[in-house]
Amino acid sequence: MAAASAAREILRRLHEVMAAKTGVEAKLAQVVRIVAEELTSEVASIYLLRDGVLELFATQGLAQSAVHVTRLAMGQGLVGVIAAGREPLNLAEARAHPDFVFRPETGEEDFHSFAGVPIVRREAAIGVLAVQHREPRDYDEVEIEALQTVAMVLSELIHGAGLVDDAQAARARAAQSGPVRLQGLKLVDGIGRGAAVFHQPRVVVEHTVADDVEVERGRLFVAFRRMREQIDTMMGQAEFSAAGEHQDVLETYKMFAYDEGWVRRINEAIETGLTAEAAVERVQARTRARMRSIADPYLRERLADLDDLSNRLLRIVSGQLGTAAKLGLLADTILIARNLGPAELLEYDKRFLKGVVLEEGSLTAHVTIVARAMGVPVLGRVRGLFTDIGDGDELILDGANGLLFVRPQGAMIKSFEAMTVLRAARAEKYAAVRDLPAVSRCGRHVQVMMNAGLAGDARALDLTGADGIGLFRTEFQFLVSATLPRRERQQALYRSVLDAAGTRPVIFRTVDIGGDKAVPYLMNKDGAEDENPAMGWRALRLALGRTGLMKVQARALLQAAAGRTLSVMFPMVSEPWEFAEAKALVEAQREQLARAGAALPSDIRYGAMIEVPALIEALDSLLPMTDFVSVGTNDLTQFLFAADRANPRLADRYDWLSPAILRVIRRICREAGAARVPVTVCGEMGGRPLEALALMACGVERLSITPAGVGPIKAMVRSADLGRLSEAMQGWLDSPGCDVRAALSAAAAAQGVELG
Ligand code: PEP
Ligand code: MG
Repeated sequence: MAAASAAREILRRLHEVMAAKTGVEAKLAQVVRIVAEELTSEVASIYLLRDGVLELFATQGLAQSAVHVTRLAMGQGLVGVIAAGREPLNLAEARAHPDFVFRPETGEEDFHSFAGVPIVRREAAIGVLAVQHREPRDYDEVEIEALQTVAMVLSELIHGAGLVDDAQAARARAAQSGPVRLQGLKLVDGIGRGAAVFHQPRVVVEHTVADDVEVERGRLFVAFRRMREQIDTMMGQAEFSAAGEHQDVLETYKMFAYDEGWVRRINEAIETGLTAEAAVERVQARTRARMRSIADPYLRERLADLDDLSNRLLRIVSGQLGTAAKLGLLADTILIARNLGPAELLEYDKRFLKGVVLEEGSLTAHVTIVARAMGVPVLGRVRGLFTDIGDGDELILDGANGLLFVRPQGAMIKSFEAMTVLRAARAEKYAAVRDLPAVSRCGRHVQVMMNAGLAGDARALDLTGADGIGLFRTEFQFLVSATLPRRERQQALYRSVLDAAGTRPVIFRTVDIGGDKAVPYLMNKDGAEDENPAMGWRALRLALGRTGLMKVQARALLQAAAGRTLSVMFPMVSEPWEFAEAKALVEAQREQLARAGAALPSDIRYGAMIEVPALIEALDSLLPMTDFVSVGTNDLTQFLFAADRANPRLADRYDWLSPAILRVIRRICREAGAARVPVTVCGEMGGRPLEALALMACGVERLSITPAGVGPIKAMVRSADLGRLSEAMQGWLDSPGCDVRAALSAAAAAQGVELG
């Protein structure tokens, strides 16, 4: 039989059925008749999921009295097996299958061969379409394909008629898929529970049967062209030009995007009468089926890339282009993405965002820092996100153990609830030290400040008991705006932060844009794209090159701090003259404002961030110019190790407790101490108890850390004898090859230091 043309003929006839004004039962009866006729089958039947059970809804060839009478549980009988496994069955001799059950009311004893496919909605089986023959015969692949195509149309029909709604489909999916546990790397500590939302939402195809094949072919052609343009643009972008995981993925994308075989298969599906999106999905379903049967992890990943690309194509062809942020979150959510930029994350409603899970991600990437500032737990480097999780699946993120539970069941949910109670108890313990100073057992006082950047962050000062804001990342305001924030808006933000801080110090860092903090409305104006943005035209370099931006910010800061102390700090200073120039620029604004009679700060303190290794060799000329310095260990360590902070492959390659880093810190503390310039460490390292302990043992007396770290770090300081640990640290750093992490952990344990 010419099965391909049968598929075309079936779809042509289904088109008429779909358009007719008859009721759904009548339509289903017509569908089974058409399928039976076109596949020359004696029997064609449709089973639908009702209350968790598969019920015979329409049949051609079985006893009509069995309709709404024959019912099979999930996994029961051949029909139940197809639904439970969401895979087709193709049997020459149905009775030989171990799961065959005979239902006398159907009168099926005369039939030997059997083929069936699941009817799927939102990745859940909501029914089964089956055919039977009197003769024992295998169905060929094209016939199974034709059945799958009809099943797609049926899915649309059933959903459209309201026989199965999306909530039922989600429940069915959860029941059919069972729980899964995925492992990842903890990027931001915390726990969260919510429904899975994909940052790039999956498209649900709502219209399957084409009105005009030529039109669909045209739509596909345009979609492919757009997708290829997108991939080419992405590959040309600076942040992807460096070799790395992104690059591998994009290379594969490109290969698939230009794969003529893929285009041909989709066109063939269109040829049978499907819409362009239904055709893409039909071919995608085949890829998924292959993915399930392949064991080789490399091949599986490549197929997952193709799957991802199919989703992109589907979004383009269906015009559903927005991210989930654009659609808005409605309930507690765990957000899923391959990777995210900080600005993209900030678009989500914080009230509902209970966690983020990334396929990539690294500890000091800015998206991680932003999430930390938002108090949202993040798990990175999780494999299987796009194969094991369905839209809307329930998820539990256990950051502490680096685990993600998909569709959790009894015990996991109980353990999550226990964790919640435990964390609340721990938070209470930290609340108890909130109003106590961070003084060590040996009497050393440590200033524990917090990092901030978003409006409202300053509220955490009171909640955590931080001694001030040691790093206010002013660029966050730029990242969340679609256009350059005007001076008035900048000034209002700075003033609100100072008001909230009261007498506690606030250190404003001038904009640190560039690197992984791309701000489109600023970056592209300077012409050339950076090959290597982290070391490119960013931060102070950009600010000194575009002095208009810096002048506006200086004025906003000066006026916001009228009558108070203004502490301003410059990021990515590489040579002392850059600091001097930046300071002179702010001073010039101050003089201009003074001439105009504006109210000014009572005092201005200038600081430099130490993030570029070369600056450490120039401390003797830098320190006399500064009122304070702050070590940005996120950047400093990426430059010391020449290891991109945003590259997931390097995420845990170098240890923050390596002697190389700690010796540099010790040196900065010694030189700054001699010059009487206070040193703060404001990188993520300082928010981790053991790392913070190491910093203090190297001479650091001020930290600025993520708000959630303030309680644990204070508790740690209060339980430590820093004098003794500092002495020990000198010895470790002076012994070549010493494993400082092991030595410090042992010493801390011996002292009973609270490490959280
Ligand atoms: C740093 O580099 O350590 C730092 C604090 O600045 P940012 O993370 O914003 O680059
Ligand atoms: Mg930095």
